[in-house]
Amino acid sequence: MAVVLEEFKTSVKPTWCPGCGDFGVMNALGRAVASLGIPGHEVVVVSGIGCSGKISQHFGAYGIHTLHGRVLPTATAVKVANRSLTVIAAGGDGDGYGIGVGHLVHAARRNVDITYVVMDNHIYGLTTGQTSPTSDPGMATKTHPRGAFEEPVHPLALAIVSGATFVAQGFSGDVNGLARILAEAIRHPGFALVNVFSPCVTFNKVNTYAWYRESLTSVDGDPDYDPSDRMAALSRIEATRGLVTGILYRSRRPTFESQLPGLGEKPLAVLPAGLSGEDLEDLL
Ligand code: SF4
Ligand code: MG
Repeated sequence: MAVVLEEFKTSVKPTWCPGCGDFGVMNALGRAVASLGIPGHEVVVVSGIGCSGKISQHFGAYGIHTLHGRVLPTATAVKVANRSLTVIAAGGDGDGYGIGVGHLVHAARRNVDITYVVMDNHIYGLTTGQTSPTSDPGMATKTHPRGAFEEPVHPLALAIVSGATFVAQGFSGDVNGLARILAEAIRHPGFALVNVFSPCVTFNKVNTYAWYRESLTSVDGDPDYDPSDRMAALSRIEATRGLVTGILYRSRRPTFESQLPGLGEKPLAVLPAGLSGEDLEDLL
């Protein structure tokens, strides 16, 4: 039976502010998974703490809402335990590039076969507007009323130099483009980072939808751009100050889980005979 977008919608109404970029990310994720024909019971969304972390509650698949910054170790464990699952790790810039940034480096170098979607709004939204690791210098926030002055984290470059084999960037104002990127990221056999500019309409009045539409360039459709060229990817990121969408870098090497000694193809965790996923849902 064909997998359709409706499968990934639930009756739970998101509590995100109207216009929040995270709606576009969740919509694009549903389209991506549906386009690949992956049913919801084969997908696990592992999310962190922050507004973006609510995606695991609203997306029609299995979900774990884990601890602040601990998305990637949890997602790694899920993938190692059952490699047949499609594992989506999801969180925000504060969660992933602040407290959790060390895990990004290690998941990238290990090349775990998971897709990490970061809803990057350049602010701490859930806690009502503090400077985040990706806030632009000069942006006034509750913690920097005279303007942020620290150098931001550069997630795309960080992921590439850490060994990630798929690095891309999207914009939640372009749901179709983002869905295509996410589908490629999910298909990629290895660690895939998709940083998504996902505006916080309530607490970030600088990096708005209109600002991104004016500022972003794309490598999509550029016949001279070669995503297998690591130095070219780093150069393009530097030249655009990170304001570039599309698949920036893609390469292949063995995944972490395929090299683990002692692990066969069988999942570490299986349901007892006679039980289905639906039975478990009834128990919860
Ligand atoms: Fe989205 Fe910002 Fe509202 Fe959080 S505070 S739901 S990030 S718009
Ligand atoms: Mg944020």
